[in-house]
Amino acid sequence: MQGLMQKTPLLLSSLITHAAENHAKAEIVGQSVEGPIVRTSWGEVAARAGRLAGALTRLGVGAGDRVATLAWNTPRHLELYFGVTGIGAVLHTVNPRLFAPQIEYMLRHAEDGYLFFDLSFTDLVAELAPKIPSLRGLIALTDRAHMPTLDHPNLLCYEDLLAAESEAHPWPLFDENAASILCYTSGTTGNPKGVLYSHRALLLHSFCAAAADGLAVSCLDSGLLVVPLFHANAWGLPFAAAMVGAKLVLPGPRLDGASLFSLMQAERCTFAAGVPTVWFGLFDYIDRNRAALDLSTFRLDRVLCGGSAAPRALINETFGAFLLHAWGMTETSPIATLGRLLPKHLGLDREARYDIQAKQGRPVYGVEVCITDPEGRRLPRDGKAVGHLRVRGPWVTAGYFKGEGGIVLDDGNWFDTGDVATIDEDGYVTLTDRAKDIIKSGGEWISSIDLENAAVGHPDVLEAAAIGVPHPKWVERPLLLIRCKEGVSVTRQAMLDFLADKVARWWLPDDVITVDELPHTATGKLSKVSLRKTYADHLRKAVSDGLA
Ligand code: ADP
Repeated sequence: MQGLMQKTPLLLSSLITHAAENHAKAEIVGQSVEGPIVRTSWGEVAARAGRLAGALTRLGVGAGDRVATLAWNTPRHLELYFGVTGIGAVLHTVNPRLFAPQIEYMLRHAEDGYLFFDLSFTDLVAELAPKIPSLRGLIALTDRAHMPTLDHPNLLCYEDLLAAESEAHPWPLFDENAASILCYTSGTTGNPKGVLYSHRALLLHSFCAAAADGLAVSCLDSGLLVVPLFHANAWGLPFAAAMVGAKLVLPGPRLDGASLFSLMQAERCTFAAGVPTVWFGLFDYIDRNRAALDLSTFRLDRVLCGGSAAPRALINETFGAFLLHAWGMTETSPIATLGRLLPKHLGLDREARYDIQAKQGRPVYGVEVCITDPEGRRLPRDGKAVGHLRVRGPWVTAGYFKGEGGIVLDDGNWFDTGDVATIDEDGYVTLTDRAKDIIKSGGEWISSIDLENAAVGHPDVLEAAAIGVPHPKWVERPLLLIRCKEGVSVTRQAMLDFLADKVARWWLPDDVITVDELPHTATGKLSKVSLRKTYADHLRKAVSDGLA
């Protein structure tokens, strides 16, 4: 027997319609690329998304057509989130921090018809545009007065396009399984692969993001979105915020500690989302300038942190805000596990509570997780067994765009994440490594994440990277690279002494090297591939010189 309820499709346009009708005055504040702070609202974003939809239709963009963006977190980029997807076209958010050849690959692979870009990327666009045969036009995300000089037969001005349209573009209804956003994984090995989100997946994901035991986003919140709109849909927050009418604060291109702090202060931000490096930058800035800053209006209540492991050292330095540790990936829309506490943890002292928060969290409703051995057999949830982390659920990918990478699910629909983890009796997942980053010493595994977390616990260390490098006897041994805080240094021996009671003896790095900078990928993770290359001979050489 069928239920007798309406079959309204779960479309992203329903979110902006809802926000416009019920939270029209809720603010959207953004740092523009041109300089000034822009103050707008959900009502205004909805109206302009409607104009954009009209403009796109006039340009001949229809259902399923790909439209790319190379843009920061700004109100205009938010309008694109709704204007493009609302007419059934596919928004392809491109990470501008990637190398130009990778971006070229993605634009060609996606066959984008139009590219919307921020002025910061004019040179990049000038270089790329002639190489993308599918591109019919370029749209500069600015007004007439700021139009860049760029030699292209169809260079358009965003504000001119919008001005020519009416706000009342009716959002069409279509199949909720239609594609909405396309986001490529960075492809640290091989070519980037496209994850193609459906409307249904992102809408269901928004319910989870907004829920009290999710990110608990509400209309009382003012949320600072540091996680880029080009990184896995900014973790679904634009949609969750539209669902509940939360105020959003968009930092544009200014992501340094001082700029983020002043925006947070001015806009009374209650939550913020971003990768650990951003928070290290911000909290280090606050710490160093404590005396000069007015912290009395600092309202930050929760910090959503994911993308890389949030070390203990970060969890206890958040100036009173609760660090909500999350794990996910582009392929999981991205929220999969969240570090919420259980009732039994409420009485714990701070240190014990931080131990829980340092884990990657428990699965949210909608995502199932398990760990398996290399043969695919399930391993127990005992907090000890280490296995390959697999996930499945309605917002987990079923395959990559254009079939790249072949079949990605096993018979039970499980997706192998490429991460290695334990799961404890309460369901908390602890990531020990990415499978390819594990340090394999004499047949045993050493967790690079554990080593790094222990190293950044040192008060003078800002960032650390542990990599496995070839060793003549042990196959691989750990090498630790550290970046110290300004004006201080830590010797090799001091670091080894510091680590001695924090990790097993055989985990102690064979060498510790201080560096000025550590390389990062375009999504803010440590770039271990390049480090492994640079230091490939480090231990072999040390051994042959009799130093290790
Ligand atoms: P990319 O590979 O393009 O950087 P993703 O953001 O999809 O893109 O990366 C997902 C990966 O990031 C996960 O598979 C995992 O290795 C890592 N990751 C995400 N969140 C965490 C976390 N909280 N702790 C440790 N690693 C994480």
